[in-house]
Amino acid sequence: MSAGRFFVAPAVLAEPERVLLPPAIANQARNVLRLRAGDTLTLLDGTGMAYTLALTEVGRDQVQGRIAARTLVASEPRRQVSLYQGLLKAAKFEWIIQKGTEIGLSTIVPVHCARSIVGADEVSAAKRARWRTIATEAAEQSDRGRVPEVREPVKFADALAALPPDAVALLAHAGEVAHAGDVATGASLGLCGKHIAPARNRNPFGLEVVHDATVHLFIGPEGGFAPEEVALAQEHGVRLVTLGPRILRAETAALVAATLALAALGELG
Ligand code: SAH
Repeated sequence: MSAGRFFVAPAVLAEPERVLLPPAIANQARNVLRLRAGDTLTLLDGTGMAYTLALTEVGRDQVQGRIAARTLVASEPRRQVSLYQGLLKAAKFEWIIQKGTEIGLSTIVPVHCARSIVGADEVSAAKRARWRTIATEAAEQSDRGRVPEVREPVKFADALAALPPDAVALLAHAGEVAHAGDVATGASLGLCGKHIAPARNRNPFGLEVVHDATVHLFIGPEGGFAPEEVALAQEHGVRLVTLGPRILRAETAALVAATLALAALGELG
């Protein structure tokens, strides 16, 4: 449900003077929001543009209007944060899609890890369609101009191999990461990936990720990453980061990491 904001296929907006709402949105407008001719609602084309639709007809069979204004959605993050999330049980994964969309993730990549309980092959087309719906509704609700892409599940090794050569990639790892005290003295970041210089006196989320590149965040499944996966990630230049001294549940870790990364990029200001 949204408060009058709906993503539509660009084709719906092809004729600005005569926009016919798709049936599901027409139904929302008429029966849930109880809009009438003369009222407005917002349509989003998924590119970051918002269109104010002035309703000209609210009928039983069709709801139509004309585009009265076109604006850029100001709340959409300018920098991209992609979450590579170890596959989790359905409800937790859906929670991450919903909350991650609200906070401002650009992409969510389900990753099949050594310790994932859910196999990549168990992710049906119906489940992926549901994930897209969750992301769309969360994007409508949270005033976004784009719907984060929820990709097809990939294997952990394939996700690493597909990282761009200069990627800023961080893997949240409870355990072997340097202590906060070491970070404070600048001693810890021997763990840095090759693409990021050690950041003295900074949290790993602090400084060097602040440039235009996408930040790629890896969060493990319920059982965490296997040691081989951590080693493989480091071989790919992925940097290990801590989320603090307490062990977080995977879904908490995903949200905390997304929040820290977006804050480091200046997107929560
Ligand atoms: N028993 C597991 C815990 C996994 S928690 C283990 O020891 O590895 C699930 C995921 O959340 C982890 O793989 C990691 O990506 C993230 N996570 C949880 N707490 C964290 C912390 N304090 N620092 C960094 N990552 C953390």
